[in-house]
Amino acid sequence: MSDSSSTLARLIAELQKLPGIGARTAERLAFHLLNTTDGEARALAEAILELRNRLTECSVCFNLADSDPCAICRDAGRQRSTICVVETPRDVARLEETGLFRGLYHVLKGHLAPAEGVGPEHLTIDALVRRVQAGGVDEVILATNPTVESDATALEIAARLRPLGARLTRLARGLPAGSTIEYVNRNVLGDALSDRQEIK
Ligand SMILES: [Zn+2]
Repeated sequence: MSDSSSTLARLIAELQKLPGIGARTAERLAFHLLNTTDGEARALAEAILELRNRLTECSVCFNLADSDPCAICRDAGRQRSTICVVETPRDVARLEETGLFRGLYHVLKGHLAPAEGVGPEHLTIDALVRRVQAGGVDEVILATNPTVESDATALEIAARLRPLGARLTRLARGLPAGSTIEYVNRNVLGDALSDRQEIK
């Protein structure tokens, strides 16, 4: 194999590691990149490096951010008495897209998965409990995914928070069972948020 084809093969192999990119798409992207200008290729490479170097985790809500605390936690216009608990930063992005939520978030960084060895200590549950203990929180919305493991995660969190007195709610059951917030339609997610229900 010549040098040029192994360079191309390496790029194709790297692109194929990305989610949703199969062999053919990787090849198509690689040939597209071959035809971009130096400046365009550099801009893409720099954006990827920047993502790795500049992106940090908010020490309050654990969302990914350019700064710590993140822009949402710093925003004085947001309602600080409501915390929406989600599994991933992508869920924050989906909920922000609905434009309906003006409170703060708390990113769990996953859900309980005993079979895979993921216990409460691997999530940010303790930090959430401390946030609620610190006071000023009237409502905690448990916006975990409608799956068995995520439901168990929500119940665990509810049990930890219940003694603290904040109102506990969860998204309405409009979300298709077994689906994830990440892939649910914006309107369906907006309705599930608006129609949220008390956790008894
Ligand atoms: Zn934050």
